[in-house]
Amino acid sequence: MNQNKKIGICSLCGRERKLTFHHLIPKTCHSNKWFKKNFSRDDMNHRGVELCSECHKFIHKTHTEKELGRNFNTVEKLMADPKIMKFVKWVKKQK
Ligand SMILES: [Zn+2]
Ligand SMILES: [Zn+2]
Repeated sequence: MNQNKKIGICSLCGRERKLTFHHLIPKTCHSNKWFKKNFSRDDMNHRGVELCSECHKFIHKTHTEKELGRNFNTVEKLMADPKIMKFVKWVKKQK
């Protein structure tokens, strides 16, 4: 369980960073009826992306866990969000 020390490419900004695992369907949603109906437990547990801490913090700051799980449960959907797009564009220029 050393996922915080892993270095790799962030799925959103593409920078090489320490990565953290983001559950595209946040754990707090897993017992919710709507999610149970739409996703298998396995899918909920394993569907995720590796993000740098800046991107990770930003998406949680921008959307609630329920919104993330319902509306932003793929990388493509995250990327298509104007707020996130703007942030990614900015963060790419940071060193
Ligand atoms: Zn990033
Ligand atoms: Zn997360």
